[in-house]
Amino acid sequence: MDRDLQLIRHHQHTSGAFPASPSFSQYPYGWLRDGSFIAYAMDRAGVRTSSRSFHLWVARTLEAQIDHVQGLLERDRRGELIPQAEFLPTRFTLEGEWEEDGWPNFQLDGYGQWLWALGEHLRLGEESELPEVFNGPVRAVLGYLERFWAEPCYDAWEENPARLHTSTLASIYGGFRAMAPFFPSAAKTAEEVRRVVLAECVREGRLVKFVENPVVDASLLWASTPFDLVGEDDPRMRATVAEIERRLLRGGGVIRYSADTYYGGGAWILLTAWLGWYYARTGNLRRARELHAWVEARRDEQGRLPEQVAVPGTNARFLDYWTRRWGTPAKPLLWSHAMQIVLTVELEG
Ligand code: BGC
Repeated sequence: MDRDLQLIRHHQHTSGAFPASPSFSQYPYGWLRDGSFIAYAMDRAGVRTSSRSFHLWVARTLEAQIDHVQGLLERDRRGELIPQAEFLPTRFTLEGEWEEDGWPNFQLDGYGQWLWALGEHLRLGEESELPEVFNGPVRAVLGYLERFWAEPCYDAWEENPARLHTSTLASIYGGFRAMAPFFPSAAKTAEEVRRVVLAECVREGRLVKFVENPVVDASLLWASTPFDLVGEDDPRMRATVAEIERRLLRGGGVIRYSADTYYGGGAWILLTAWLGWYYARTGNLRRARELHAWVEARRDEQGRLPEQVAVPGTNARFLDYWTRRWGTPAKPLLWSHAMQIVLTVELEG
């Protein structure tokens, strides 16, 4: 785990931002999604200076967007239809700038995940007050999500823009719940989100990828672990995990979803560690250790972990297509290292 921590520390920008991958042409940016889970991993490992500096970077970055958020809310009140490209972005430059470059930016999950990770940062640090510096940005994000959480947006894999995604909604739920101690009205919105998920994102007793799509997606793990929209032992969650095991396990690792074509749809390090995290929380340590060992065996000689690896079933044509386009999959991917840290801490305490 030390080398994971070192690697993340090494690549954290002086601004506090984490680049998704320092060496992959498409990923030099700071994603709220990746960054929030990386900060959480640093908190779990007790490296608070790193997580604090990330959260302060997000606070500064979003402080600069508060007028924009007010503008969106006003336009929405006037009944204007807001184009997706004008909603807050999913990623920023490491200096906190918004690059309007056509990336599928309208993704709401990262904003929920940030609120959640900030809540965990404060809880683990035994801070019972919200430091003043976060007040404005958190209020803005709560106002933004409260109004737009039911708006179709891109999912956590930056796909399917016209859908309502279960893992996105679960992330927003987690964010609202985490902020309820500071903003009591957030608890009410959390409950509304939960009600919609349980009514519209459960089919045949298990969670589905998005409303009106019965397919399973590994990001559904987030619903229980860590966002607790349903408990790990809830029959709907158990059935979801059984379906993940049945359909998404390839060569010992976990793929995102069956029809994934990105780099041929390989097994993702972070999702495999995530499944391990789920099992660690249910007390199935044997399975959690197996998944941990699978990830360990994917390190290169310098200890680096990629985003994904080809496994039996990976589509060679698409693997070749993306490799020609962007080179081999991102490595190191900081989020992969982060999730292995979380699993290691769960297993080793
Ligand atoms: C993934 C996102 C991730 C981004 C940066 C994309 O390929 O789908 O979930 O945030 O890479 O790591």
